[in-house]
Amino acid sequence: MQNTYIFIDIDGVFNLEDLPGQNTEMPYDENGVPLLVPEFVQLFTEVISKYDQVKIVISSSWRELFDLPTIRSRFPKNIQNKIIAVTPVWSACAELPKYVRYEEVMQYLATTGNEDAYWIAIDDLPGHYPDTVNLVAVNHYVGFDHHAASKLDILLQKSLS
Ligand SMILES: [Mg+2]
Repeated sequence: MQNTYIFIDIDGVFNLEDLPGQNTEMPYDENGVPLLVPEFVQLFTEVISKYDQVKIVISSSWRELFDLPTIRSRFPKNIQNKIIAVTPVWSACAELPKYVRYEEVMQYLATTGNEDAYWIAIDDLPGHYPDTVNLVAVNHYVGFDHHAASKLDILLQKSLS
């Protein structure tokens, strides 16, 4: 079976952005790593667990702050082995392309020989991607809710057909 890649953002997806005028202290663990909202991680995990062909790659800026094992440890044991890599950080030229995160995904797929793979992005900033991609756009005041979970589920079902 062909692998399906899911490129995940973390901030504003698995934790929440403060509403304007609000300033809630983001919870951290003893190592200074932000905690994620368990319900959001749970909903994501439930969908992911249904699909054996899924590989998860971290596109979040967390990849510049934390190593892969640290990021992986934020997710339940049964999907940790699906979290396989992080996207490269764009450094090709001084001028940033319009869709940097998209270009980083393209770079990842090209260097791993997966140009033709079906892939999905999850992000709270839709402007990171052109509107031609399979994107689960998450509202960063709402987080990865049932709506996002069912969108992801639909896109994953499509990947099988
Ligand atoms: Mg984000």
